[in-house]
This record gives sequence, structure tokens and C-alpha cells, in this order.
Amino acid sequence: MIGQQPSGQIGPLAIALIAGGILAWAAVLAILLVVLLWADGRVVLAGWIDGCQLNLPYYGRLSGEAAIAKFIDKLAMLAFAIVPVLMLETAVCGYRGGSLWRLTQGRSPSAIHDLIVYALNFAGLWKYLSILLSFGAVLAVGLVAGGIIQAFVQFDLRIRTGSLILDTALGFLLFTFCDYWNHRLQHRQPLWPLHRVHHAADEMTVLTLWRAHPTISAVEPLFKLWPLAVFDVPAETVAVIAMMTVTYVHLIHSNLRWDWGWFGRWVLIPPIGHRLHHHIDPENQSKNLGIPVIWDRLFGTWDGRHPPDDRLGISDMPYNRSMPREIWRDLVDFLRESWRFVTRQ
Ligand SMILES: [Zn+2]
Ligand SMILES: [Zn+2]
Repeated sequence: MIGQQPSGQIGPLAIALIAGGILAWAAVLAILLVVLLWADGRVVLAGWIDGCQLNLPYYGRLSGEAAIAKFIDKLAMLAFAIVPVLMLETAVCGYRGGSLWRLTQGRSPSAIHDLIVYALNFAGLWKYLSILLSFGAVLAVGLVAGGIIQAFVQFDLRIRTGSLILDTALGFLLFTFCDYWNHRLQHRQPLWPLHRVHHAADEMTVLTLWRAHPTISAVEPLFKLWPLAVFDVPAETVAVIAMMTVTYVHLIHSNLRWDWGWFGRWVLIPPIGHRLHHHIDPENQSKNLGIPVIWDRLFGTWDGRHPPDDRLGISDMPYNRSMPREIWRDLVDFLRESWRFVTRQ
């Protein structure tokens, strides 16, 4: 029909942009591969440690590389995780059905929120918001967590089974165990006001992963950095696991509705499982909190159902209107709930 917008149609400009994007991505990938081979994956680890606001003299050899590491880490994440997931999603769901359209042409307030948070992270500015809105607690937590890890390293308290594969597997299990409880506690007061914004996305984009409250960075290292202290896993291995995990967490925020069959029931929470976790019904938001299925099954939060409908987000709180106001409101709510939590004890 004349005048009707053909949905999902890709014009010549879009094709040229996509082709250019793929070429640029291939070039970045080639450069990164060379850098990663040269640096044995240590740069990724250095970037990761920096992301957790840690300063670890143990990784002294890395400190000189820290500045470049930060940038390489962001590029590596883009090249190995975000772009491949976007391409896969576009191939399976179509341009109109995936994140690319939502982030470029759809531009709903929710998708724009995702994009802004990611851009601030990429530009290195999110970190300063975290410092400011946690009143410096992010830095203090980094120092404490860094000190604990160093003590483990210095007094040689780390576990070594003698097998790299076993060390890595145990390290992964401990990491995901900590991650599970970190996430589960974020669904309870007083932490819920700081996690709520992640659930406030009313549609999924691959970048929804990045939606977070700046202040949450003051809490997460306390939960998540133990594996680094407890198991003696080499930097290269941590880097590989970190990259695989990063790809996975972007994938489960895509519009792919895969349930992965038995693999999704027994090994890793599939994209549809995380979609259920983002469903608007608070009952569903308490399900599928982990990365491997084992922790949800063990602690009674696993749910293999598909979401009943497509409604995502938070029902009892306005979001995606003014980001600064919502960030401030959530911080005040968190402080109020923390005060209640402490005085009730
Ligand atoms: Zn959650
Ligand atoms: Zn999520």
C-alpha cells in the first residue's frame, strides 16, 4: 500500500552501513587477536580488575599496561561479545525483530536508556558517577576487596588442586555461586532500589545488560571477587572465562527466545529463562537468578516456563522518563531502606 512503512525492509544505505560495520568489526577483531596473543590475555584481566576499581600490586606487571588495558578490554568486549551477539540476533530474529533496530530506529525511551548507560561506560565516565553517587564507597570497597585478595595471595592461602582444568572449573563454580547470591540479595531490601533500574527495561536490547544503578558498583565487588582470591587460576584462564561469561550475559539480554532444550534445563540458564526473569510479574522476577542452572535448582528459584506474554519491566514505579531523576530517587530509596534495615535489627 502506498505510504505504508514496510516494516523490516532494509534500504541500500542500511546495507552499506551493515557491510561497513562488518568490515570494521573484522579489522578490530584481527587487531585484538594480535594484541591478546602478544599479552597472553593479561590485558583483559587488567581491564576487568580496573572495572572493579581494584588496584592490585600483585598484578604489578599489568599496572604499566592498565591504561591501554582499559581500552583494549572495552574493544574486546565489543568485538568478541556485543557485535557477534547483535549479528546472531539479527540473523535469527531479523533486523526489525532485534536490538539493532531498537537501538537505531526504534529508539524507545527504554532502548535510549540502555544506549546512554553503555556509552557512558565506554567513554569511561560511568565510573565517576559511581564514585560520586556512592560517596566514594566504590573506592573504599575496591581497597578492602583488593586487600583481602592480596592477603590470600601473599600468605599463599589459595587452593591449588594440581589440575588447571579442575582449578578453573572450581573457580567458575565459586564465581557463579557468588554471582547468584549477589543477584538474589539485590532482589531484596535494602538493595532492590539499586537493582530495580535493570528490570525497568520494557523491551530487551543486547545493551540492557548495562542498565544498572551507578551505586551498585560499591556492593558487587564484595560478592564477586572471592574466586580471584581463593583459586589460583592463571590470568589467561580468568580472561577467557571472563570473555565467555561476558558474551553469554549479552546473549541472554537479546531478543533470541531460545530455551536450549536439556542444556537450558540442566547446564546454563537460556535466553528465554532470563526473559522470564525480566517479565513484569514480580513473581517471575524472583526466578532464574544465576548463570548455570545448578544454583537456581539447588536454592529453589529455577523456573523452566516460557514467559506468559511479552510484557517486561516494573509495574509499580515510573521509569524511562528522566534518567537523572530516577537515579537520584533510587539512591534516596536505597538509603532510606538501608536505614530501616539497620534500625530494625
Ligand atoms: Zn534481577
Ligand atoms: Zn537482566
